[in-house]
Amino acid sequence: MNTPPDNKISNPHDAMQILRDLDTGIMNHLAWLKKLHRALICNETPSEADLSADAHCQCKFGRWYYQGGNHPELRASPIFQVIGDLHKSMHDAARGLLQKQSAGRAITYDEYDAFMDQAISFKWKVRCLQFEIVKSICVVDHLTGAWNRQSMLAKLAEEMERMNRNGLSSCICMMDIDHFKQVNDGYGHPAGDQVLQAAVHFVSEQLRKYDSIFRYGGEEFLICMPNISLQAATLTLDRLRAKLEQLSIPLADGQSLSITASFGVAEMKTAISIQDTIHMADHALLCAKSKGRNQVCMWEIEE
Ligand code: GH3
Ligand code: MG
Ligand code: MG
Repeated sequence: MNTPPDNKISNPHDAMQILRDLDTGIMNHLAWLKKLHRALICNETPSEADLSADAHCQCKFGRWYYQGGNHPELRASPIFQVIGDLHKSMHDAARGLLQKQSAGRAITYDEYDAFMDQAISFKWKVRCLQFEIVKSICVVDHLTGAWNRQSMLAKLAEEMERMNRNGLSSCICMMDIDHFKQVNDGYGHPAGDQVLQAAVHFVSEQLRKYDSIFRYGGEEFLICMPNISLQAATLTLDRLRAKLEQLSIPLADGQSLSITASFGVAEMKTAISIQDTIHMADHALLCAKSKGRNQVCMWEIEE
């Protein structure tokens, strides 16, 4: 399923800490740049750390980068790898300049420019990573890891646009957990939160990689299913419904519980607005509820 980006830092507190750590990395390197220029221009003795072959591991940022302190999800991000490479080449280039200067040899324009280009790229990539992290915390629902409602309309508009181009039908499904209030009342709100997380995790695993799940509100989710007919989507969702019913959700206190959900599905049409399609799926969901819950209903348009 098309879940939020891999490099998402699902916990906003972790994300804030990483943003601060990256800011500190930029500030430390600006201060370092000043000292480096003093050594180059005013002949101040360079530090042992800057002259060592592993200067990139010895600076504060390097220790944070290489010796943990950072986040596993961050380490998996490609841009984080690029930052590591740039950081190393920047320190390598600085060492080269300091060695030449100490030996009384002239530094060429090209050597100086190459160093500064690395330093600028390093800062730029750190800023890009910060931007990605901010973006990822803006589009994700932090309780469940589903896409949030703010990102939903833009994604559905993209899907409508894609549908217009390739002519294949797509569906929107509204899913609502049945009698969820009873979970909160019977097991407590934290258990309810766990159930919401488990439900999203389960749906994300079951559906295709290009389907997306959005938290529409409370215990209600919107599933976007590209390239699928209304009939096929209904069958797929009914299989999902039946498996969900079998799922045993473990709770923190050692108990476990099971849930059911109701689904309403509608086909997207180019002549019908996204908002109206959502209303149609919602209406089908109400039918599923009124027919007794734990079922899938589709909205059929008479053509
Ligand atoms: P129905 O089968 O008709 O959908 O009944 P329901 O009990 O699922 O629906 P209802 O709208 O009566 O209750 C939904 C409950 O979901 C009420 C609300 O407190 C709870 N809820 C909404 N958001 C959250 C959340 O983030 N965490 C928890 N634990 N509960 C939530
Ligand atoms: Mg409900
Ligand atoms: Mg509801």
